[in-house]
Amino acid sequence: MRILVVEDEKKVADFIRRGLKEEGYAVDVAYDGEEGYFLAGTNPYDLIVLDLMLPKQDGLSLCRSLRQDRLTTPILMLTAKDAVKDKVAGLDSGADDYLTKPFAFEEFLARVRALLRKKDNLASTLLKVDDLVLDTLSRKVIRGGKEISLTHKEYSLLEYLVRNKGTVVTRTMISEHVWDISFDTLTNVIDVYINYLRRKIDRGRKKELIHTLRGSGYILKE
Ligand code: CA
Repeated sequence: MRILVVEDEKKVADFIRRGLKEEGYAVDVAYDGEEGYFLAGTNPYDLIVLDLMLPKQDGLSLCRSLRQDRLTTPILMLTAKDAVKDKVAGLDSGADDYLTKPFAFEEFLARVRALLRKKDNLASTLLKVDDLVLDTLSRKVIRGGKEISLTHKEYSLLEYLVRNKGTVVTRTMISEHVWDISFDTLTNVIDVYINYLRRKIDRGRKKELIHTLRGSGYILKE
């Protein structure tokens, strides 16, 4: 899951980025409205965190522009004021949810998870394929009743494959949703991580779930 954070206060932006990265999300940061608009139109984000007061283009007008461009990515708006009219204006401009600063990071994360679930039409926090179960809340992975220990990146990659089960995902799609803007397209890092995952998820099993499609990418299926 890749998230764009548009926030001009460097301290707050860094705090959010660090926190989200620790949870395994890929994160890009824009420090003003124009940069935010550019990045949102360039990369396929799963969620946008948008501050209300921004230089160059404020959050409300940015949100309206993105919706006018028919971008359907969920938007979580951050407001500094607890004024009802700011919340109403935020939601009316096309935001899906808002949070008033200062906020508890736990609550921020819970709202992020809720928006991502809603985006995928998931009522549950569990994802299942065959005997593989992912708990997206605790980030626990179980196959055949046994817990498998994954690194943050391995988990993020697996979650992306599982969310797209039955469909081919290309390396570009993976790099765009699991890695951030600093991803180097010339490396074979995705193949390396796929191999790590295979070793942990599929090795020694009767049924393999992760399949390679030569020249196109990968597919996770029963
Ligand atoms: Ca601000």
